[in-house]
Order: sequence, then C-alpha cells, then structure tokens
Amino acid sequence: MSFTDSRRLLLEAEKILRRAVELLGYSEDVYNALRLPERVIQVKIPVRMDDGRVKVFIGWRSQHNSALGPYKGGIRFHPAVTMEEVIALSMMMTWKNALAELPYGGGKGGVKVDPHVLSKRELEELSRGYMRGIYKYIGPDTDIPAPDVYTSPQIMAWMMDEYYRLTGENKLGVITGKPKLLGGFETRIIATGFGVAVAAREAAKKMWGGVEGRTVAIQGYGNVGYYAAKFLHEMGATVVAVSDSRGGIYSSKGLNPDEVKQVKSKTGSVINYENAEKRITNEELLELDVDILIPAAIEYVITEENAPRIKAKLIVEGANGPVTAAADEYLSQRGVVIVPDILASAGGVIMSHIEWVDNRIGGWISEEEARRKLEEKMVRITLAVWEFWHSKLEPGKHSMRDAAYSLAVKRVVEAMQLRGLL
Ligand code: GLU
Repeated sequence: MSFTDSRRLLLEAEKILRRAVELLGYSEDVYNALRLPERVIQVKIPVRMDDGRVKVFIGWRSQHNSALGPYKGGIRFHPAVTMEEVIALSMMMTWKNALAELPYGGGKGGVKVDPHVLSKRELEELSRGYMRGIYKYIGPDTDIPAPDVYTSPQIMAWMMDEYYRLTGENKLGVITGKPKLLGGFETRIIATGFGVAVAAREAAKKMWGGVEGRTVAIQGYGNVGYYAAKFLHEMGATVVAVSDSRGGIYSSKGLNPDEVKQVKSKTGSVINYENAEKRITNEELLELDVDILIPAAIEYVITEENAPRIKAKLIVEGANGPVTAAADEYLSQRGVVIVPDILASAGGVIMSHIEWVDNRIGGWISEEEARRKLEEKMVRITLAVWEFWHSKLEPGKHSMRDAAYSLAVKRVVEAMQLRGLL
C-alpha cells in the first residue's frame, strides 16, 4: 500500500466512525474521544544481516481503545506499512472486537519490511527486535498481538519466547496464533475463511432461505479466499469463479475448490486450472451475474466507478475495506446486502480469543470445541447485526455496514461511560 493509500485508509476509517457516531446521535466530543489512538509506539529495530551489515527497520504498535479490555490485534510485516495504516487498522480492530463481543479493545502492529527477502535468521532477529521494542507495553492483560499480513505462527513463537526472556514470565497468553505445540490451534488456519463462509451462509438464509445452489464468485485465493470457497462448496453453494493476482477462471457448473488449490500450489496461479470453461479478468469477476460475491484480496476494488455494473445481490467482505464508502451507500440503496469486513472477517480474532482463554486455563479446549465455538459466534454476531439493522435502522437507507459499526461503536461508548471516561 502506498503512502496515499494508507492516508486514505485512515480517512475512510474516520469517515465510517463519524457516520456511526451521527447515526447513534452522539456529539462531536464522542467522535473526538474515539478517533485518536490511546498510544502509538514507534520502534527502531537494528538487525545484523547475514552479510555482516546492520540494517535498521522501523515498526509501530498502535493501541487504539481499551475500554472493553486489553488491546488485541495482529502484527503485519509488509514493505508498504506506514504509521497511519497501523493506526487505521487498530481502530478497525476496536470495532471488530466490540462487535464480536470479545473482552478486548483494539490494537495493531506493523513493521516496514519485505519478509520474503530475509533469511530465517534475519527474520527471527527482526521478530525478537520488534518484541524488545514493545514488550513493556504488552502482556496477556494489556495488549495481545497475533499474526496478520505476512506473519506466521513461527514468528509468534519467537516473539513469545523473547517476551519470556525479557520478563522471566513464560506466559502463553501474551500472543495468539501460535504453533499448536505452544498453545495454538490448527483451527486458526481455517478460521477467517470459515468465518466468511458462515457469515455468507447466514445472510443467504435471511435472503433466500439458504445458501444451497447459490452461485458464488471469489476474488483472491489466499488463505481467506480458498477456505471461504472450500466451506461454501461444502455447504452446497456453487463456486463458479475464483481469481488471484494473475487473473481468474469461470465455470458455470461450478469449480472444485480443492482441485483449484492444488493447481495454484503447484503452478503459482488458479489460471492454470484446466477444467474451467474460460479465463476471466479480476474486473470481470466482480461484475459476474452471481448471487454472492466475495472480495477477499485487496481494498477498494468496488468503487463508485464499477458499482453500477455489480450484479451480485450479496457481497461478503473477506478483505479489509474492498467496498468504498460511496459504493457501499450506492449498492445498499439498490438493495444489495453487503456484509462488512469487521463482521465477515472476525473469524481470526474470535479464534484468537478461544486460544487466549485456553492458554489461561491451562489447555482444556479441543480443536472440535474451538471450531464449534467459532461457528456459534459467527452465527450469533451475523444475526445480531441483521437484527439491529432491521429493528433500529432502515435497510435501503442504511447499509449493513452502518448497522455493524453502530452496534460496535455503541458498545465501546457505553463501556467508556461505565468507566467514567465519557
Ligand atoms: N489479524 C487478524 C485481524 O485483523 C487477527 C487479529 C487477532 O487475532 O488478534 O482480525
């Protein structure tokens, strides 16, 4: 993401907040109390590279709001990370966690680095260095990081170990998304994509009585897109199109998500899958005449420009912010249901919460139980937003995004009022 894009992300985040504050009838003071993060830590991370040089990296941890509990949110390693992006994403975590009824505030971390060009040793040094910079400000009851873009269970393990070395406290609950042997869950891998599929299924039930036989197009075939495709296929939907950064494929009879995945793993892209009827572009995929569209790749792919050509009746945001605020308003007024990112992609952090609870009670929750709890919560929060949307707002005038953000912001404001902060 370029600097202008990350600036835009922050402005969009502020715009969404302002709209929710206005819908709820709160004052400008409330908006100002919610807008700024409570703390932003900037860390300088010198790493001795394999060639002997010392390279300096820069990273941040933004702690946006702690009214509902310790800050919670992932850490991303990406060459285009900026402080503004991290702040915007930490604000989104506040709403996502509040909406999912988790006992957490919102936080986010990031390091400006391309992790793919680092050796394993360099990556470990960087991960430990980042933890050295933030360890005084985090902890199982303070701020609990997790994986995000380009960070992995291994990176979480190094960070947890560094925390132990620095504090002498071997606390598994200081970080989530860990390897299974260190208190993590295998279910974590499927969590976000599975959550997207469950949110799609519940919305489809409300709209058509079920997801069975409904056609689906998915943009992006990474972890989220693939598992959303796999589970929707298992739920009886017909996945007619998928894509990745190199393009997409279409088959009116439906694609087999696992076969497509195998081709992508082997050749690098879904476009090499031979049993598809035709190849399509990413733009064409978005405009297909399907029931359900899942943008699970990057932000701002559905804008004012292409919104008039979108034919899907249900859009489920698997990525962060794929539908711009203007397109959201336009499509919602046309009757398109858009399940917003903070709801649709909550599966990851819901799974993190289950892991954190399990770590604190000494390891008691099975994978089956974790998966069941994850599904139950995704169903419950999707229905809660739907209910709030229909009982407190006006669908057609207000979008499902308005409902989700209003519900989340209301919870945070009420928590702040109870604490005497507002
Ligand atoms: N990075 C994920 C998210 O943005 C998960 C965060 C977490 O588990 O704390 O939702």
